[in-house]
Amino acid sequence: PSLEYELTRRRIQTNIAEIWNYFSSELGKLRKAVGPGNSELEESIQQVLLQGADHKRSLLSDMEQLRRVDGYEAWRQQEAKDLSDLVQRRLHHLQNPSDCQNARKLVCKLNKGCGYGCQLHHVVYCFIVAYATERTLILKSRGWRYHKGGWEEVFRPVSDNCQDAGTAYAYNWPGKPNTQVLVLPIIDSLMPRPPYLPLAVPEDLAPRLKRLHGDPIVWWVGQFLKYLLRPQTETRDFLNSGMRKLGWERPIVGVHVRRTDKVGTEAAFHGIDEYMTHVEDYYRTLEINGSSVVRRIFLASDDARVIVEARKKYPQYQIVGDPEVARMAAVSTRYTDTALNGIILDIHLLSMSDYLVCTFSSQVCRVAYEIMQTMYPDAAYRFKSLDDIYYYGGQNPHNRRAVIPHKPRSHEDLQLKVGDLVSVAGNHWDGNSKGKNTRTNQGGLFPSFKVVDKVETAKLPVYPGV
Ligand code: GDP
Repeated sequence: PSLEYELTRRRIQTNIAEIWNYFSSELGKLRKAVGPGNSELEESIQQVLLQGADHKRSLLSDMEQLRRVDGYEAWRQQEAKDLSDLVQRRLHHLQNPSDCQNARKLVCKLNKGCGYGCQLHHVVYCFIVAYATERTLILKSRGWRYHKGGWEEVFRPVSDNCQDAGTAYAYNWPGKPNTQVLVLPIIDSLMPRPPYLPLAVPEDLAPRLKRLHGDPIVWWVGQFLKYLLRPQTETRDFLNSGMRKLGWERPIVGVHVRRTDKVGTEAAFHGIDEYMTHVEDYYRTLEINGSSVVRRIFLASDDARVIVEARKKYPQYQIVGDPEVARMAAVSTRYTDTALNGIILDIHLLSMSDYLVCTFSSQVCRVAYEIMQTMYPDAAYRFKSLDDIYYYGGQNPHNRRAVIPHKPRSHEDLQLKVGDLVSVAGNHWDGNSKGKNTRTNQGGLFPSFKVVDKVETAKLPVYPGV
């Protein structure tokens, strides 16, 4: 397919959701304003909302059908496989130098003082720098807060033949071009900041990625996770038996409810009903043509009460999940081997779900979403986040380009000219996004459909001969 065809197809899909976000939010406001004083009008608005939602689901279902029957699906499968194989070969080559002793190395310490998702993102960032500087990644993981024995006892080592930095003096970033061993700080203290940090993807792969995927950076991050998370035999057995015990079956919607220490500090509280509204919507889209699908969710949380509550409130749902795993995820027991098993299993199952409903403010769900990209040619749309849009912690500005001009509707709005770059802060999921016009330096709201994502690229080594 042409790039234009794929971009247009995906844009329609996104904007079907956006137009419905807009109408449902506006109609919701009207219904509230009308109030119980005029129950007839209130009832009519309610009817429009119900019919409209059905109409939206039909359109989304047709877009799925269009993708299946447009004749390009075999190409998408093959291209996804080819691209992934290529990147995995490059990573394998980088990580297994013929002469380890003299190889250039990048040292990364796993034990950042944060959760598992945050630590994985830290390692992925290191790995991206390693790839960009053609240095073998050396992962230091002894005394890991989740597992004292280190990474290699859980996942396969990041290298088969070069796991040690050796005796050469280790310099701190940025070192000099001929520095053999370089130590990388956490992304927030990286100075100077190279241009290839997320959200950039490699220039040599960008044309193929733009055509294949709705959000190339998520695919790119997913490839590093694919390499990193190759399980040791014991871990693989544990994952398989965990799935069997839970009664895992598809179709299934992965729901992640992040509570405990996150709520009130880095994220707002969202009740289970809010997640379930989107789950219900997903299933009703699957059933639009009159078929009937077993309602099933995989529910992961750091609060066991969520699973108990959901089972009570949603008896019509098969709720796959283990309150015991959630209980171990609480802060007091979080950094233990049992909790590590729990989070590995939860992320694995979330990533294997057909669709994700969660808060992207949590790195747990973002990691699951990134890994999910390795399961489909393009899983960019298989999620509903109740808060943030996708981001990578410490990322460079996220720019979108205006393709439709915008006249401010109120003092809250941005003005947009076609071609303007907007640095986006978030989506309000009501048809509007928030951002700053980089041309005028003005910040404010604008209709989400008036912009398209700008895929950032960086010139990186092309690993010839791999
Ligand atoms: P964030 O704080 O949500 O952005 O994500 P992090 O991964 O950095 O830290 C949260 C940590 O809490 C996780 O790594 C887990 O240890 C634990 N946790 C949070 N949610 C879950 C969950 O759904 N299941 C399990 N097993 N653990 C969780």
